[in-house]
Amino acid sequence: MEKKRCAYSECGGPMNLPRAGARFCSSKCRVYAHRSEKRFPAEMTARERWVRRTESKRPVTVSGRPASSTDSRTWASFETARKSSVGAGMGFVLGGGIGCYDFDHCFENGHLADWAVEAIRAIPERVIFSELSQSSDGVHVFVEAAEGPGRKIRDGRNIERYTAGRYIAVTGRRFKL
Ligand SMILES: [Zn+2]
Repeated sequence: MEKKRCAYSECGGPMNLPRAGARFCSSKCRVYAHRSEKRFPAEMTARERWVRRTESKRPVTVSGRPASSTDSRTWASFETARKSSVGAGMGFVLGGGIGCYDFDHCFENGHLADWAVEAIRAIPERVIFSELSQSSDGVHVFVEAAEGPGRKIRDGRNIERYTAGRYIAVTGRRFKL
């Protein structure tokens, strides 16, 4: 059993003297977390494809058992996952028409790298939601996409595209080009 952490993904700090059922280390974290969770679009929140995740980014169920991105019995509704105090944040399981481009290490001196700007602009699918990754060094671009095999582009860049069988550790920190 991992030690309980603040459920606001940007904090993830230890819970000092946690009350039973408490999810956040402070009221500040609670307010910030609720703000970012509200940013997910209905297209995502309406689906029962949500999990919790540990600090080490393993997906877990709302009751703390290992979750699988290929076993829908381990997923939950957005509200159930959001209210859960398990782990260090939320995850969204790709599939059912929603895929994601995962851009890693795409910032240089606080600015989105040119290759990433070009790649994001060139995304052919309809974009559903874009957010900063937990490290703030990456971007997730959720798109409307049929399920299919994943793709990695690693010619000096770091882009992965998945449409099924994967989950994304989400932050809700909206990102705009
Ligand atoms: Zn906190």
